[in-house]
This record gives sequence, structure tokens and C-alpha cells, in this order.
Amino acid sequence: QPVTVEVGLGDRAYDILIGSGLLSRAGEEISRRLPGTRAAVVTDENVAAAHLDTLKAGLEKGGIQPTVITMPPGEKTKSFAHLEEVVDGILAARLERGDVVVALGGGVIGDLTGFAAGIVRRGMNFVQVPTSLLAQVDSSVGGKTGINSPRGKNLVGVFLQPRLVLADTGVLDTLPIREFRAGYAELAKYGLIDRPELFAWLEVNWQKVFAGGPERAQAIAEACRAKADVVARDEFETGDRALLNLGHTFGHALEAATQYDGARLVHGEGVAIGMALAHRFSSRLNLASPDDAARVETHLRAVGLPWRMSDIPGELPDAEALLSFITQDKKVSRGALTFILTRGIGQAFIAKDVPASEVLSFLRENH
Ligand code: NAD
Ligand code: ZN
Repeated sequence: QPVTVEVGLGDRAYDILIGSGLLSRAGEEISRRLPGTRAAVVTDENVAAAHLDTLKAGLEKGGIQPTVITMPPGEKTKSFAHLEEVVDGILAARLERGDVVVALGGGVIGDLTGFAAGIVRRGMNFVQVPTSLLAQVDSSVGGKTGINSPRGKNLVGVFLQPRLVLADTGVLDTLPIREFRAGYAELAKYGLIDRPELFAWLEVNWQKVFAGGPERAQAIAEACRAKADVVARDEFETGDRALLNLGHTFGHALEAATQYDGARLVHGEGVAIGMALAHRFSSRLNLASPDDAARVETHLRAVGLPWRMSDIPGELPDAEALLSFITQDKKVSRGALTFILTRGIGQAFIAKDVPASEVLSFLRENH
């Protein structure tokens, strides 16, 4: 039986179902909640090869006729050109407003498809079927959708909450190990933000999460609970939701500094290094104990994630250049930066007045 986590957004509340075998039950789960009988399924080539037939059969069994739109895999697919293809595909399938748009894939497909679903006919029913660990614990929940602009990542999009999220934990067996680890960094993030018992549990059970079985679903469900809580409290990120950016300030700077070259660093790896740095930095500012920073580093290293800047292959720009990536990424008021810092494992907080000079000397020491 799958675990159900509800995202409490009043009349827009929705369920996240987590468990194995959910693709085969997709039609039943969707038609129980939504009236439409037709669906557009948007996916990428990798995911289609491994899981599309199972999902199609699952939809048909529930009386839903799918039209499939297949995109190339990769971050470059989050573009205006591909958005246009998806929009056209949905319209060509003659879907009406009550019908559903289904995203079958990782965060790239989820973000692109959600945006298309948000603008076609001013908003269609949207269902997320996340297939990467990152998408199951993070991007499929919360309603942020969008594409990239040549001027930066995720700059164009809308908030559109899905009507249902089906996280089939079995599909993760075909995910490349490096992508699994990258998603794991975002899973561990919830422990580090405000669930110290989750982090302690992961330190003991992470191998079982990687292997599959009940611990995997349990960990994903806990992550979804954490994300659902934050989203229900602060849907549009005017406050608390920013805590989800733990590790992302350093992480985004490292992604930019490596030209978003996935061969060197994928997003979750940047977040892993970023979380380790955020703890180290907090300890340098005497906010957290160095033992907590060491604990984070030890765990990331144990699971095979990079945890320090020197783990990134190739040359990195110097500390000044890294700081400029950070200040580009966010508003700087009079030399002060907003950072997610921590008082220890599970005690992250939003610090609004971190001096850029402190960040610079920290980056020099840890380069
Ligand atoms: P992705 O969608 O590119 O998937 C990673 C790779 O794994 C791709 O090559 C994909 O084809 C492949 N893949 C996915 N599932 C598979 C499976 N089951 N078997 C085999 N291969 C599979 O990347 P991602 O890491 O899932 O997501 C990253 C994206 O998510 C970024 O664009 C990021 O901006 C976005 N994101 C969005 C939010 C949000 O709140 N909307 C949050 C975090 C990240
Ligand atoms: Zn992230």
C-alpha cells in the first residue's frame, strides 16, 4: 500500500502517493480524483525507454487515453522552443480544460510540463509522476514550474500546484547512480533544515535507501512531509520557504562557476558541497559547533557525494570570482547577503545580514 502525504492548501489541497508499482495504478488514482478521460503525457527519451509503456498501460486500465509528447533529456529542454512544442502537442491532442497533463520524468520534465499546463487554456489539470529521486523529494511538490532564460536559470515560469503526485519508488531502480546520489543530497537537506531525527536516521539507514525496499519509500515520504509542511506555510516564498535553499547559495555559485557543465557538477552535487560549506561557515561564525560541520561532511563523503570544492574536477575560479557569482545570484544591500545558516544539525535559519567580506575570507580559506 502506498503512503499518502497531503499538501494542505485548502481547496487546492492534493495528495502525494509514495510507493512502488504506482505507474500501473495511475489511471485509477487519477480518474478517482479528476473527471477528464484524456491525458497528454510529457516525458523525455530516457524515461520513455524505461517506463512509458508501464504508465500508458496503467492509464488505459483506468479508462484514460494518453497522447505522448517526448522531449530530449537534459537541462537545455527547459527552453521557450521546447515549451512551444509541449503547448502545441497538448493543443493538437485536443485536450479540454477538464483533461489532464501528466509529467513523467525528472525535474526538467516536471518544470517544463507544469509551466505548459499552467498557460494552456489558462490552466489545465496537472499531475506529476516524478521519476528521479530529486523530483520525488523536491521538484514535483510545491507548484514551482518554469524554464530557463539565456539570462539565467528558472527565470520564467508560474506557480501551478499539481492535482496529484504519484511517486513510484520502483522507477528509481533505473536512475543512474550519480543522479540518485544528487537527489539524495536534497533528501538529506530536510534533515539538516529542521528534522535532526531524519538526518540521524539517514546516517544509519542510507544504504537501505539506496538499495530500495521499505526504507526508500519511508525516506521519500518523510522528505515529502517536510516539503509539504513548508509549502503549506509559505506557498509563494515570502518567508520560511527560503529555508529550502540551504546549501543553494554556495551550490548555485559552483554550478555557475563550472558553466552548468553536468560532467563536472550536477545540481544536487553542488547542493551537497553547498550544505557542507554552509555548516562550515556557520561554525566559523561561531553559530554552530565544528563537530556538526564534520558530521555533515562525513555523511556526504560516506554516500559518495562531493563535499568540498576540491572534489570538483578541473580548475575552479578564485574566491573573488566565486563571490561575484554569489552576489549576482541575489540582492546585495550595502555589502550584506542573505544566507541560510545553521545553529547545528536541524537548526537552519535565514540570516539576512551576512557581510560579503566574511563570505570572501571563508571562500579563500576553503578553496
Ligand atoms: P532531470 O530531469 O534532467 O533528470 C536527470 C536525468 O535522469 C535525465 O537524464 C533523465 O532523463 C534521467 N532520468 C530521470 N528519471 C529516470 C529514471 N527513472 N530512469 C532512468 N533515467 C531517468 O534532472 P532532475 O535532477 O530530476 O531535476 C533537475 C531540475 O529540477 C532542474 O532543472 C531544477 O531547476 C529543477 N528543480 C525544480 C524544483 C521546483 O521546485 N520546481 C526544485 C528543484 C529542482
Ligand atoms: Zn535544489
